[in-house]
Amino acid sequence: MKTKSSIVPAQNYSVYIGENVFTEITHFFQKPTSQSERKIFILVDENSLKHCLPKLIEEVFFLEKAEIIEIESGEENKNIEICTQIWRTLSELGADRKSLLINLGGGVISDMGGFIASTFKRGIDFINIPTTLLSQVDASVGGKTGIDLDHLKNEIGLFSSPRAVYIYPPFLKTVNKKQLFSGFAEMLKHALVADKTYWEELKNIDVNTISELEKNIFTSVKIKNEIVLKDPSETGIRKALNFGHTIGHALESYALESDGKPLLHGEAVAIGMICEAFISYKKKFLSAAELQEITETILTNFEVVKLNYFDTNRLMELMKHDKKNDTGIINFTLLNGIGNVSINQSCNAEMIIKSLHYYTEETNMLSAQSS
Ligand code: NAD
Repeated sequence: MKTKSSIVPAQNYSVYIGENVFTEITHFFQKPTSQSERKIFILVDENSLKHCLPKLIEEVFFLEKAEIIEIESGEENKNIEICTQIWRTLSELGADRKSLLINLGGGVISDMGGFIASTFKRGIDFINIPTTLLSQVDASVGGKTGIDLDHLKNEIGLFSSPRAVYIYPPFLKTVNKKQLFSGFAEMLKHALVADKTYWEELKNIDVNTISELEKNIFTSVKIKNEIVLKDPSETGIRKALNFGHTIGHALESYALESDGKPLLHGEAVAIGMICEAFISYKKKFLSAAELQEITETILTNFEVVKLNYFDTNRLMELMKHDKKNDTGIINFTLLNGIGNVSINQSCNAEMIIKSLHYYTEETNMLSAQSS
C-alpha cells in the first residue's frame, strides 16, 4: 500500500512529496474553483515527455485532455526566444486568464514555465511537478522564476509562487547519474548552511538509491522552505541559500559562453562551494579540518570537473554582474562553521582567484593520487 504524501506548507501553497502525490493532484483538479472549463497546458521537454508524462496521465486521467507544449531540453533554451514561442503557442491554443500551466520537468522547465505563466496575460496559475533531483529538492520550491539573458544566469525573472508543488521521487529512476549528483550538490548546500546533523547523514548516503533519497528530499525541501518563509524576497537570511552560487553562477555563465562543454548547475555549485568554503576558512569562519572535510566530501562524490584554464578577468566581470550584489561589491554567503552562515560578506579579487587555485590544486592532487 502506498503511504500518504508528506506535506510541507510553503508561502501560500503546499509541497506534496511521495509515491501518492497523484491522489493529491487529482484532488487539486476536483476543487470546484480550479476546474470546470479551465484549459490545462503541460510544459515538457523531450525527456519529461518520454519518461514522466505517460505516468502522470495514467494516474491523473483528467489530464488526458491537456494541451502538451514541448521544448528542447537544456539550459541554453532557458531564454526569451523560447518564452516567446511558448507565449505564442498558449495564445494560439486559446489560453485565457483562467488557464493553468503544469511545469513537468527539471529546473529549466519550472524556472521558465513559472516565468511564462506569471507574465502571460498578467499571470495565470501554474503548478510544478519536478522530475530531476535538483528541481525536486530546490528549483521547484521557493517562488523564484526566470530565464537567462544571453549567458547571464537568471538575469530576467520574478518571484511568483506556484499553486502547488508535487514531488514524485520515482521519476528519478530515469535521471542519469551526472544529473543526480547535480541535484545532490544543492542537498549538500542545504546541510552546510543550516543543519550539521543532515550533513553527517548526507555524507553516508548512496545517491544512486532512490529510496534512500526520498527522506532526504523531504529534509531538503523543509530546510529551503523554512529559510524562504523567513525572507521570501531575499533581503536577508534567504541569502544563506546562495552559498556556493556567487562563484558557481559565474562559472556556469562562463561555461555557457565558452565553446566547451556546459557545466551542469549542480557541478558549478559544487565547485563554488569548495571555493567559498576556502574563502570562509581564510576569513577564519571555518577551521582547516572543516574545509578539508567539505572539499573531500564534494570531490569524492562528484565526477571531478577540472578547471584547467579560466579567464580570471571575465570571471570577475561575471561575478560583478551577479544579482546578489549591491553597491558594486561582490557579495558572498560564507560558512560560519558547518550548519551556519554569515551573509553579506565582501571579498577582494585576490582572495577569489586564490580560491579557484585552491580548487584546481585539490583536483590535480586527486587525479595524481588516482593515476
Ligand atoms: P534541467 O531542467 O536541464 O534537467 C536536466 C536534464 O534532465 C534535462 O536534459 C532534462 O530533459 C532531463 N530530465 C528531466 N527529468 C527527467 C527524468 N525524469 N528522467 C530523465 N531525464 C530527465 O536541469 P535541472 O538540473 O533540473 O535544473 C537546473 C536549472 O534549475 C538551472 O537553470 C538553474 O538555474 C535552476 N535552478 C533554479 C532554482 C530556483 O530556486 N528557481 C534553484 C536551483 C536551480
